[in-house]
Amino acid sequence: MILVLLGPPGVGKGTQASRAAASQGWHHLSTGEILRSEVEQGTPLGEEARAYMDRGDLVPDKVMVEMVVRRIEDVADNEVLLLDGFPRTLAQAESLAEAAPGGVIAGALYFWAPDSVLEARLLVRGREDDTAEILRHRLSVFRETTVPLVSWYEKQGVLFEVDADRSIEEVEEDVTQVVMSLLHPSNSAH
Ligand code: AMP
Repeated sequence: MILVLLGPPGVGKGTQASRAAASQGWHHLSTGEILRSEVEQGTPLGEEARAYMDRGDLVPDKVMVEMVVRRIEDVADNEVLLLDGFPRTLAQAESLAEAAPGGVIAGALYFWAPDSVLEARLLVRGREDDTAEILRHRLSVFRETTVPLVSWYEKQGVLFEVDADRSIEEVEEDVTQVVMSLLHPSNSAH
């Protein structure tokens, strides 16, 4: 079962994906983390991706789709995979739908919080691409290119909104509940 986590930089998708994966035994794949490790190791892929990442631009779809499709093939039907940071474009979402088992994405969790909260969280995190200027650019890339996926998934009836302007524990509870309700539909309240 594949779920995608959507949301602006700093909203806490990565934190939530790692926590849920650790506590529930789910799989978790962060494209940003994979790219950063490729950059660190100086691989050809890392070299190619670096310039885009430094500017806060998206790495080309072809590179990203290959990276993810290869990895989702290893996930068994009865396992949960949380995709953190992918898809970020409509082309990526379409390729993911084609590659997903049965062509199905079980859910898209859209994390949102006010810009002031995102900025405050990112400046504390202090990653190389978290400077105020690059951050502004990443936010605009998110709004222009990734936000359209919210209505795309909504039309498919798989969108779940998560108010991420709350404590890590409260958000985690929501995330767990959504995934559980998808895993065990008959047990859910409605
Ligand atoms: P993240 O850790 O998700 O904020 O990603 C860090 C950077 O990696 C982004 O600013 C992009 O340059 C690149 N990146 C991560 N995921 C994707 C993706 N799905 N498509 C394109 N670029 C990505």
